[in-house]
Parts: sequence; C-alpha cells; structure tokens
Amino acid sequence: MKERSRNPATKKIARERIEVLFDQARLAFCAHPERSNRYVEIARRIAMRQRIRIDRVFRRQYCHHCYSFLAPGKNMRVRVHRGNVVVTCHSCNKKTRFRVVRPYVQST
Ligand SMILES: [Zn+2]
Repeated sequence: MKERSRNPATKKIARERIEVLFDQARLAFCAHPERSNRYVEIARRIAMRQRIRIDRVFRRQYCHHCYSFLAPGKNMRVRVHRGNVVVTCHSCNKKTRFRVVRPYVQST
C-alpha cells in the first residue's frame, strides 16, 4: 500500500475533492441515483484515507447506515421529534437523529 502523504496540503486537496464529489452527487441524483451513491462512497474513502472529517453540511447528505445519497423529498424524510431532527432513509428505512442545540436564551 502506498504511504500516506505527510504534506499538509493533501488534506486541503482532499477536502476540495469531497466538496466536488458531493456537488456531483447532487447533480447526478435525478438521472443516475446509483452514481450519487458511488460518489458518496469515494468521498468517504478519501476522508478516511486522509483522516479528515466530512463537513457537517455534507455529512447530512448521506445515510449513515447504508451510505446512500439522500435528496430531500426524494428518498428521505425529515421530521422534528422532541426538538431533534430525525432523518429516515428510504433505501434502508433506518433513522439518523441529529441533535438540535438550542442557543441559550435569557428569560426576561
Ligand atoms: Zn440508508
């Protein structure tokens, strides 16, 4: 296996690639949903290899159980349950919950 690059610029490049892949996944979803899933797979692999986190905006665009790309109103359902966002994937019917952190509001 190839040794991982120690150059700090590679992480930046990896982030850019992940961004491009998610853009492409969104564009390809209407015509070729299977391609979107493949782009998510590649993006995850890049992130794992470079040991970087996928940005929050992108992390919410795929299913964390079956890793398929999620398009709002197409293959996912978004509900708010007890103040948390619950995303249901229509490919595997599993739910992913996101915590909604409420900003502290001072009562007057
Ligand atoms: Zn799923």
